[in-house]
Amino acid sequence: MQSSSVAVVKPGDERYAPLTASFNGRWGAGTPDYVLLPVTADEAVEAVQHVVDNGDRFAIHSSGACYEDLLTNRGVRAVVSTSQLTSVEFDPQRSAFAVGAGISTVELYRKLYEGWQVTVPAGAGPPVALAGQMVNAGYGPLSRQLGQLVDYLEAVEVVVVDNDGRARKVVASRRADDENRDLWWAHTGGGGGTFGLVTTFWLRSPGAEGDDPAAQLPAAPQELILSQVAWSWDAMTEEAFSRLLKNFSSWHADNSAPDSPSVNIFSALKPRHVSAGEFLMSTELDAGTPGAERLLDEFLAAVNEGTGLTYRQERTTVGWLEHVTSWIGLGGDGWEGKGRFKAKSAYLRTAFTDEQLRAMYRHLSDPGFDNPATMVEIGGYGGAVNAVGEQATATPQRDSAMRLLYLTMWADEADDAVHLAWLRRWYADVYASTGGVPDLRGTGDGAIVNYIDADLLDETLNTSGVAWHELYFGSAYPKLQQIKATWDPRDAFTHALAVRRPD
Ligand SMILES: Cc1cc2nc3c(=O)[nH]c(=O)nc-3n(C[C@H](O)[C@H](O)[C@H](O)COP(=O)(O)OP(=O)(O)OC[C@H]3O[C@@H](n4cnc5c(N)ncnc54)[C@H](O)[C@@H]3O)c2cc1C
Repeated sequence: MQSSSVAVVKPGDERYAPLTASFNGRWGAGTPDYVLLPVTADEAVEAVQHVVDNGDRFAIHSSGACYEDLLTNRGVRAVVSTSQLTSVEFDPQRSAFAVGAGISTVELYRKLYEGWQVTVPAGAGPPVALAGQMVNAGYGPLSRQLGQLVDYLEAVEVVVVDNDGRARKVVASRRADDENRDLWWAHTGGGGGTFGLVTTFWLRSPGAEGDDPAAQLPAAPQELILSQVAWSWDAMTEEAFSRLLKNFSSWHADNSAPDSPSVNIFSALKPRHVSAGEFLMSTELDAGTPGAERLLDEFLAAVNEGTGLTYRQERTTVGWLEHVTSWIGLGGDGWEGKGRFKAKSAYLRTAFTDEQLRAMYRHLSDPGFDNPATMVEIGGYGGAVNAVGEQATATPQRDSAMRLLYLTMWADEADDAVHLAWLRRWYADVYASTGGVPDLRGTGDGAIVNYIDADLLDETLNTSGVAWHELYFGSAYPKLQQIKATWDPRDAFTHALAVRRPD
């Protein structure tokens, strides 16, 4: 990059390793010839122009938290990292918070809270940046109460590449009269690294009024009540296990309408493999909710009802910021050192079917497998998420009640085949009646693009006849394809699981 101020990081530079490493140890580090590290939007334009002019296949990086090898793939010869774009400021012109794409969600929570005591319903996890989480339809513990992260996207600045190969920055907003509105729409769940490179997100509550910064995003909770419940596998029978999962899923199916009085409750049930000895359910709610303790007691009673099980519970009240900035790691306590992982996902609209429950139990109680770092996290969803129309954003899954993350982690490369095969068998068995993947608009509603899973491309694993893009984007896909053709006519931004232009 002669005569440019954009930092170029090459092998041998101490910044190279962290900028090319995947959070998933399975992928290790990438081997690009160089990484470009813009610190302004104009530098981001220069960086994209450079990789396009060079004809280098490139990837976009913000944190490397992606589950698949989009960053580290050996075909990637250059990386443009937005990890240095981390500012947070209030933009009075848009009456919205202008946030650098590369900021971690944890740092965003801190800055929004310390500056204005506001927040957004993003996820947990210190490594994760806002960029990938936003454009891939991220969610977090406040989503039932506040909605999807993308519902707070007022505008986005994107570096796009024209048909003539010229990189330029464009601002696209949700305003009905914005001629670039479709580009904004594509960034409300249409996937990362697909339409352009995001430099800035403007965040604002839908329908916010006035110019007081503190009124433009939801007030953050002051304190949370946290409940951690543990069930032992010792006393577990198939009947009790199934009843527990049925209760949890039925409760969510019944309490996920936007006007449900229980949307303040966020819970994640995390059945682990029997070799873990026990499994947990973490529940949290705003301590300021009227009758909070009673609501929590009623929820726990509903989940445990008729199981005949006893459980251990720890209940505490903690400051909200303290909670969202401290994190126990992917999977939970005790999984440190198990850096290699595979994840799969599903939306769930209804209670589990009996067939699904049998498959869950069969695999999680499998005596022939021995990995305690294996679980399915069944997280509450819906509520305010479901108040938004199917077409309003590129996240059409607006009547689900839960999001499922199937996860197994391990330490050694030599064990890859065993753990991958086991997780794949489990998932295929849970969805056996629908081709090994969740159905669309039935019990399930496809899979979660934020927990990206290349297996969906593989017709030996996805035998449903439903393409990966339908499972991720559902009814939004044809429109996403049109937007791709308009805004990325040269297919400059692409990877294995990116929206394709129409044939
Ligand atoms: C430990 C951990 C915890 C997580 N917790 C949650 C959670 O609570 N809730 C949730 O919803 N998800 C969660 N996730 C999933 C996470 O949100 C996704 O993996 C997300 O895509 C990561 O985004 P990133 O920018 O940090 O990662 P990266 O690997 O840097 O990027 C991921 C994708 O986004 C694209 N991208 C990155 N930056 C830009 C940009 N500036 N412009 C355009 N495209 C870009 C990349 O091309 C890539 O396709 C978690 C993941 C991990 C590893």
